[in-house]
Amino acid sequence: MKDLSILVVGGGIGGLTSAIALGQRGFEVDVIEKDPDWSVYGVGIIQQANVVRAVTALGVIDDYIEAGYGYDFVEIYAPNDELAAKVPVRRLVEEYPGQLGIGRPALQKVLADRARAEGARIRLGVTVTTLDDDHSGVDVTFSDGSSGRYDVVVGADGLYSQMRDLLFPDAGQPEFVGQSVWRYNFPRTNDIVNMHAYTGTMGIGLVPLSHEFMYMYLTTPEPDNPRYPREGLAGIMRGKLSDAPKRMATLGEQITDDDGVVYRPLDSHFLEGNWYRGHAILIGDAAHGTTPHLGQGAGMAIEDSLVLAEELQGRDSVNAAFAAFQERRYERCRYIVEASLAICMGQIGKGPLVNYPQATADMIRATSEPL
Ligand SMILES: Cc1cc2nc3c(=O)[nH]c(=O)nc-3n(C[C@H](O)[C@H](O)[C@H](O)COP(=O)(O)OP(=O)(O)OC[C@H]3O[C@@H](n4cnc5c(N)ncnc54)[C@H](O)[C@@H]3O)c2cc1C
Repeated sequence: MKDLSILVVGGGIGGLTSAIALGQRGFEVDVIEKDPDWSVYGVGIIQQANVVRAVTALGVIDDYIEAGYGYDFVEIYAPNDELAAKVPVRRLVEEYPGQLGIGRPALQKVLADRARAEGARIRLGVTVTTLDDDHSGVDVTFSDGSSGRYDVVVGADGLYSQMRDLLFPDAGQPEFVGQSVWRYNFPRTNDIVNMHAYTGTMGIGLVPLSHEFMYMYLTTPEPDNPRYPREGLAGIMRGKLSDAPKRMATLGEQITDDDGVVYRPLDSHFLEGNWYRGHAILIGDAAHGTTPHLGQGAGMAIEDSLVLAEELQGRDSVNAAFAAFQERRYERCRYIVEASLAICMGQIGKGPLVNYPQATADMIRATSEPL
């Protein structure tokens, strides 16, 4: 198809990469983002080989590399700090590193700049009020009183998707999994040139983010889903590290800034059945919100964007494109959600402890498969 007008709801990773991929194919794209400040957490994210491949296809890989920190190995440590394995990350694009770490604000800037350069119109502080699909397009009214008509609406509005509620009111909500993640940035030390991950029941590790920074992630069981006040958060995170591997606990002594701690209860959700209805479709966390144990949530959202744009360009009806998209994405995303959750359940004693190096190797193999 050609000349489609497309509304993307949500200016996060999936929304912006969709805007890029759709804009590159000549579609007219509006993006609405409900957060007027468009704020993102100040920590980072791991982008694996399949993401390197996907952002190369989007044409933003050089910006990514410049804004982040590329590496080719994952170093896996035992809880006694001994190196258990140095797993090479297979490059899927020969001239670029296998993986990279990148700060979320830097990532957002890379994607937003490119989305605008590809022609996307981005409006902040706006959300959808109503959708009216008449089988040939969708009339949309917005929270700022404006309205528009689109050939396609893409719901990329994240885990707590309003679009999912509008399209699939019976879909259910994401569920808290009993575990939370803590993250904190540090100046990068010279020994952190790869991702470091620990085996055992405590999910902990370090990721280089740039030449200047790296971040620590730590998952902890939080069965009662407590709400910690901001004041004192650094002390609480330090306390959570009391049983951590010695190297991590020692580094943790530098956690002193309450505002630098990013604490996030973890939820999981997979939308069974169709991810589309009429001329509207869900992508990213709105359709398949995973816990971060395999570091693939954003990767799946970015792959969704590429596949959706390819199918909309290559098919002769919206319905055929949506069906083909779902066929290519459903099982791959389900696997990531389920395998990530299994690691989580093992860590908190609600399931068998998953062999983490094996699970990582399986994920790398699965996500290396063509899209
Ligand atoms: C702790 C943690 C660590 C993670 N680490 C990694 C990692 O290392 N690697 C990785 O690949 N993934 C990781 N992820 C997952 C990753 O962050 C998500 O999978 C990814 O952000 C999903 O992209 P998305 O566009 O679907 O949603 P989001 O990035 O959440 O974007 C949704 C956007 O929609 C906006 N929005 C929400 N509702 C509306 C509305 N009604 N109208 C308009 N706009 C709306 C939001 O403000 C937001 O900007 C992690 C997740 C967590 C929680």
